[in-house]
Amino acid sequence: FKIKMDDFELFEELGKGNYGTVQKVLHRPTGVSMALKEIRLELDDAKLKTIVTELDVLHRAVSPWIIEFYGAFFVESCVYLCMEYMNAGSLDFFAGCAMPEPVLAKITLSVVEGLRFLKDQLKIMHRDIKPTNILLNDKGAVKLCDFGVSGQLDRSLAKTNIGCQSYMAPERIKGESQGAVVSYSAASDVWSLGLTIIEAAVGHYPYPPETYQNVFAQLTAIVHGEAPTLPESYSAKAHEFVELCLRKDATQRPTYQQLLDHPFLSDPALADVDMAGWVAESVEYRKEHPKVSVPALA
Ligand code: ATP
Ligand code: MG
Repeated sequence: FKIKMDDFELFEELGKGNYGTVQKVLHRPTGVSMALKEIRLELDDAKLKTIVTELDVLHRAVSPWIIEFYGAFFVESCVYLCMEYMNAGSLDFFAGCAMPEPVLAKITLSVVEGLRFLKDQLKIMHRDIKPTNILLNDKGAVKLCDFGVSGQLDRSLAKTNIGCQSYMAPERIKGESQGAVVSYSAASDVWSLGLTIIEAAVGHYPYPPETYQNVFAQLTAIVHGEAPTLPESYSAKAHEFVELCLRKDATQRPTYQQLLDHPFLSDPALADVDMAGWVAESVEYRKEHPKVSVPALA
């Protein structure tokens, strides 16, 4: 069936990104709560239609580690993407909560499984791994969203993509500055994963705050500086895992299979981690200790 705007009852805004807003909605015909993402694009209808058609591949992204996709449509100059609602929000909300190593490993495991699924089953890379694109729910599930499936959408958004906190791998930063179209591969997602793991553990973007307000300083630090590391409190195997992800030379980073076989993720005890319990505790913790947002780009 086709999803359309009239089907929805609108609820609160779940978040705002660089390109639009995400709102909680009720899909009346099915009674299912969903997340509706609005992306405002100054494009003609033909291009908007192309995007909606290209997004159709998302119907094939059926996996326990990927957000379910319900449909897309466009109205005026906005594309609407309708997806599974994750009632615990994104990983950035939990970054800085108590993050015991088994929980960090379990989150990492879900992300690596999701990335491997995208690569093996859909032949795509994610391209935008970062804490806000990793979603959680009260059952303890961890799932990926916002991966690049529409070439037209990626091209339309690319121009405005100057974040003050970049998760881009060094080779991507170098490639873009040289105007290369495809200068990166799955290994670039592995870099972004490494940075995301550290952010989840330490509670803030891993490069120094001085670089938050200066895009050039930040990109220079990523390309030429030392990669960040996990806090001391984590084990040697966790440190090694993150170091492997953050090798500056992309060809030296592990494959998804190698990551899954690494002792940080292959520990059978991870099957018993109570993720739902951790999500519940962390939501309570956040009520007492609200997340402080970083200074915006000057
Ligand atoms: P960017 O604009 O760079 O993509 P972003 O990922 O933060 O940044 P959006 O993708 O627009 O921006 O998402 C905004 C926020 O909405 C996210 O940070 C997340 O917390 C929330 N969100 C997105 N999708 C869902 C969902 N399916 N369920 C619950 N919350 C969601
Ligand atoms: Mg997002």
